[in-house]
Amino acid sequence: MAATKLLQPEQRLRAQYAVSRILAEAATLLEAAPKILQAVGEALGWDFGTVWSVEPGSLELRCAELWRAATPSLAEFETDTRKSRFTKGAGLPGRVWETGKAVWISDVSRDGNFSRAATAAKAGLHAAIAFPIRLQQEILVIEFFSREICEPDEATLQMAETIGSHIAQFKHAEDDGRSGEEEFRAMFELAGSGKCQTDPASGRFLRVNRKLCEITGYTEAELLGMTFPQITFAPDRQKDLEQFQRLVRGECSEYTIEKRYLRKDGKMIWVHVSTALILDTQGQPSRTVGVVQDIDLRKRAEEGLHQSEERYRLILENALEYAILTLDREGRVTTWNSGAQHILGHAEQEIVGKSLDVIFTPEDAKNGQLELEMRRALSHGRAQDERWHLRKDGNQFWASGLMMPLKDEDGQHLGFLKILRDRTAHKQGEEALRDSEARFRQLADSMPQIIWGARADGSGDYFNKRWYDFTGYSVGMVKAGSWRNVFHPDDAERCTVAWRHAMESGQPYEAECRLLDRNAVAYRWFLARALPVRNDAGEIVRWFGTCTDIDEKKRTEERFVRLNETLVSVMGAIPDIVFVTGVDGKIEFRNPAGSQFTRSVTLNHHLPAPIQAELERVVQTGEDHLPTTFKTVHRFVIQNVERHFLARILGMRTPDRKIFGAVVMVQDVTEFRLLDEVKTNLIATVSHELKTPITSLRTALMLMDQTRGTLTPKQAEMLGIAQAEAERLLRTLNSLLDLTRFEDNALGMRLETLSPEDLVLAAVEETRAVAAIADAQVKVKVQPLLPGLAVDRERILHVLTNFLTNAIKYSPSGGEILVQARQHEEGVYFSVSDGGPGVPRQYHSRIFERFFRVPGTAKTGAGLGLSIARDFVRVHSGRIGVHSEPGKGSEFYFVLPDATPS
Ligand code: ADP
Repeated sequence: MAATKLLQPEQRLRAQYAVSRILAEAATLLEAAPKILQAVGEALGWDFGTVWSVEPGSLELRCAELWRAATPSLAEFETDTRKSRFTKGAGLPGRVWETGKAVWISDVSRDGNFSRAATAAKAGLHAAIAFPIRLQQEILVIEFFSREICEPDEATLQMAETIGSHIAQFKHAEDDGRSGEEEFRAMFELAGSGKCQTDPASGRFLRVNRKLCEITGYTEAELLGMTFPQITFAPDRQKDLEQFQRLVRGECSEYTIEKRYLRKDGKMIWVHVSTALILDTQGQPSRTVGVVQDIDLRKRAEEGLHQSEERYRLILENALEYAILTLDREGRVTTWNSGAQHILGHAEQEIVGKSLDVIFTPEDAKNGQLELEMRRALSHGRAQDERWHLRKDGNQFWASGLMMPLKDEDGQHLGFLKILRDRTAHKQGEEALRDSEARFRQLADSMPQIIWGARADGSGDYFNKRWYDFTGYSVGMVKAGSWRNVFHPDDAERCTVAWRHAMESGQPYEAECRLLDRNAVAYRWFLARALPVRNDAGEIVRWFGTCTDIDEKKRTEERFVRLNETLVSVMGAIPDIVFVTGVDGKIEFRNPAGSQFTRSVTLNHHLPAPIQAELERVVQTGEDHLPTTFKTVHRFVIQNVERHFLARILGMRTPDRKIFGAVVMVQDVTEFRLLDEVKTNLIATVSHELKTPITSLRTALMLMDQTRGTLTPKQAEMLGIAQAEAERLLRTLNSLLDLTRFEDNALGMRLETLSPEDLVLAAVEETRAVAAIADAQVKVKVQPLLPGLAVDRERILHVLTNFLTNAIKYSPSGGEILVQARQHEEGVYFSVSDGGPGVPRQYHSRIFERFFRVPGTAKTGAGLGLSIARDFVRVHSGRIGVHSEPGKGSEFYFVLPDATPS
């Protein structure tokens, strides 16, 4: 069966053009008719053409001209046609004659009013078109046949009308006998297409019509000065010229070309040009004639369609990330793009026709997932989901899918379109992100610091557990921005300014601030810090910050500052010179008096050499330097006056007793020293002065005792007392002289080994008389087998008798006094206890100072006894002290080491 076919626009154009050209060249219609049949037949691809005319005098149409393609099968039909006659209304030509209109028969073999049907069928002819040429007096009918079945179309019928009217016009002109230039011009201009005549040698325009001027945008005058290659778009020029030359050389009789003109306004326009050569009477090329059709719209539409089809194809084939496939209504694959092959592994030819179930996991396939999806797509217009799918190799991948129903124009359901996208990497990325986020949160929550995050605009969006613990806030409260209330009012402004600055400059943020704890009672100091996080482009995307609790540090710092200020004020108030030094004697701190001193003696940063030497000793021995005498004074000349200074050095020690520095107090003792000297000299002088008379007094009393007559017991007793007192006076004087001696050296000691008991008894014996007077009960308690001690008898006896006389003196009469000697861890312990008034604690050490007496003491005394006792014990490397409380009596003691140090 023959194929149905539609005529193409170019074919129509070519036919019209051919007719115009033939008519332009022909002198008479008779001459033109066979050419027209052939040209139109060839242009339209038809096989058989006839011109029917009414024979003068008859009422029948008969074949006037006939053309057929060179096909043998048409011969019989030709014979049939030539001998056919048609009255009005009969057969195809008769119908045209009757109606005066073009008639189209899609298939003559099925037409009831077609007499030549049998031969037409033999010849394989199907479609036929016939149209009238209405002349003034008569009518002609032109008829064409095609081997194809052609549906009637408006454009072709229109073309037939146009050709018919062209021919009619030509015939009129011919009939009127006016076949000159006028008529030609009229026809030349009449046509709807551009026309031109050119010089075959140069291609110069010889004649152009208005339509061509419209198409090219040039005026007639302009075009006549140009050649056709000049207005042809350069890329098309070569091809056009080649064909033109072939035409001129006679290698072809005409040619057509689709090419682009370059219009005067610069725009391009697509045209269809048919060119034929006209020879002169000598058979030489005289001119070419061209018919130009504007096909720009069509070309552009074609290009557009082509482009969009191409785009669609490219997208479909190159969308490797997308599997795009179609299914029939039962879920069998109908098309499968390269993306589908890429993602799912199946080749198109393997899978087309099979159910899409193969790409579902066994569970999903068992649950009828494909079926469910198709149903949902149908009911909702689309079905979308994410799930695991199966590749051909058995591997699974995560995919997001979309299914939509496919329908034809009438809404008939054809099948489904499915688009799948591999999202495995994305899903893995998401999981990894969730993982690392969880890890981060866990880590951040286990930190003792507060950790927080903020968006690039500075608004906080993350806080770790420590923050919530500290502030007592809930997540909602933080989101509402109320976290700002946590700042101490005095810090809020400062911190906001610093934060804004960080935000604008991209610099790290750092600020110290107080934050309110969850009970809203106390603020704690924090050091807040934050660093920006940047993206690859270097833009800040967010901030991460910490708040470190520095409350302890801050408060220690505050305490330290206060302490330091106190220290500086105290030091400033002390008139004595105070230095704080390192172990090397370098002065690290000095009070105002110290500064003045260093200026006066022009010291830089170190202690003066003699004091430095004392410091070195302290560092070496670990013992503070606290002189009690003026033996170690240093002399410095200050403002031309020699002054005496006494340095006391106290080591500053680490917890493990290592000395790391020292406090050096330098006292100006010039005046004290003078006084001391005066006093010492005075004592020495007075003692000497007193010693002579007391010695004589003692001698006199002794003589008196030896040479006495009869004395009353009372007199004898008085004499005894006088002798004892004289002895004591003498001893005191000796002590005083000793004292002045001892101030210079510890020499002059006469050591002998004595038993503690003998010493105790001797002392008791010495004080017996005084005790008797005071009615004191002296008891002795000496531990047996005490070791002998190497001591200076005089001095130790002085100590013991001093203790005893004090006990007697300060106790109420009849009081009990206990003298003891016993073993002690440091040596032998000697003590004298009484039930007297006792010594207030604050005076315990001072009573051993020279001339010190407890204020308010009733009994007279010099305040020297205990100080001398202390000196005497010390030269024995012993220790002296008192245990006493007011109202509970006193125990004065000293301990002597039992082995004398070698
Ligand atoms: P004096 O006894 O000459 O005053 P001391 O040096 O012997 O000088 O004693 C110093 C001071 O100690 C005394 O003035 C006295 O106030 C106090 N004192 C000494 N012994 C005793 C004691 N046994 N009971 C109470 N006070 C005492």
